[in-house]
Amino acid sequence: MVGKARLNPPWHLQSNMIHKRVFGAMPNGEAVTAFTLSNSRGCEVEILTLGAVIRRWLAPTAERQDIVLGLDTVTEYLNDPNYFGAVVGRYANRIGQGRFKLNGRTFQLAQNQAEHCLHGGKQGFNRKNWQVEKIDHDSNAITLTLESSQGDEGFPGNLTISTRYRLSDENCLRIEYRAMSDQDTLFNPTQHSYFNLAGHNSGDITKHRIQLDADQFTPADETGLPTGEVLLVASTPFDLRRSVKIIDVLKADHIQLTQAKGLDHNFCLNGYVPGNKTPVAIAKIAKPEVGLSMQVRTTMPGAQVYTGNFIGNSFAGKDGAIYSNHQGLCIETQFYPDAPNKPHFPSARLTAKQPFYSVTEYQLSTTDE
Ligand code: BGC
Repeated sequence: MVGKARLNPPWHLQSNMIHKRVFGAMPNGEAVTAFTLSNSRGCEVEILTLGAVIRRWLAPTAERQDIVLGLDTVTEYLNDPNYFGAVVGRYANRIGQGRFKLNGRTFQLAQNQAEHCLHGGKQGFNRKNWQVEKIDHDSNAITLTLESSQGDEGFPGNLTISTRYRLSDENCLRIEYRAMSDQDTLFNPTQHSYFNLAGHNSGDITKHRIQLDADQFTPADETGLPTGEVLLVASTPFDLRRSVKIIDVLKADHIQLTQAKGLDHNFCLNGYVPGNKTPVAIAKIAKPEVGLSMQVRTTMPGAQVYTGNFIGNSFAGKDGAIYSNHQGLCIETQFYPDAPNKPHFPSARLTAKQPFYSVTEYQLSTTDE
């Protein structure tokens, strides 16, 4: 035993652990709990019951830099226009005019961006205090659940959702979404973490590299709503199939980039297979200077790549940090925006009493691994 311990890196002095503390309270007094999942390599992920938010993520590097943008208090999260680290739903991204038809009936949703319904409406999943379903010490995982009742933000059906976060010893955060509705409805959850592999307080992400397996993307109008076109990325700045520096994308001369103040676009993932339950590698972001990269794997058909274009230039973040535009990068795995009104996009319909399942994994690697 002693001999073996000597061969192990220092982080093996700690074992997988789930730590729990009170983070704050909702306006009605209900406690908001913070869970910290940690592994033997020094990687640590803090998750709140509020919004199922990923609030802190310490990298398995010597510096243990915190690679996600976040906030300090419940009040700040309840007022956060950026959706820092939250699980977004019922429908991530936009539904045009907040309106859609299902089984011949028209539904009007809450409109909270231009005339659209963005990220589930005014009181989306990010503003709800989720319940703790299971703390699984053996798997280093926690499962949070939420009941979204019939008519919530205008959506049909009583929907039960669960999100399971598991941190492996290989530095992979696996996120599984499960849901069931008693009526036909729509469901499109995503994780809205803003990554900065050099640390959340280290300036912008323009020198990160990105690679994404998508031959096509969906251009948007000036309100961010897809026009319905599906365009080839070839010979455009949206060609991320080979690793590129984000700065080189942002400075390219393209109306879609000027209009959105950077990348804020849905990419059509090549590896999507409807019904697949095994996540496929779709993207890699890297910050070679700090020896850290992250692979993204998912079962979903699309990914919104968002370069944090609307953070502002003096947004008060956690731990005294001041965030600016382009300080974080989101890779939001999802159904395409406005799919309910674009029949040629993969469908986000969830049939009554049928289980929904999707999985997305964020896998960190240090260059010497
Ligand atoms: C959207 C952006 C929006 C941001 C924060 C992203 O998913 O595509 O347009 O500003 O979320 O709400």
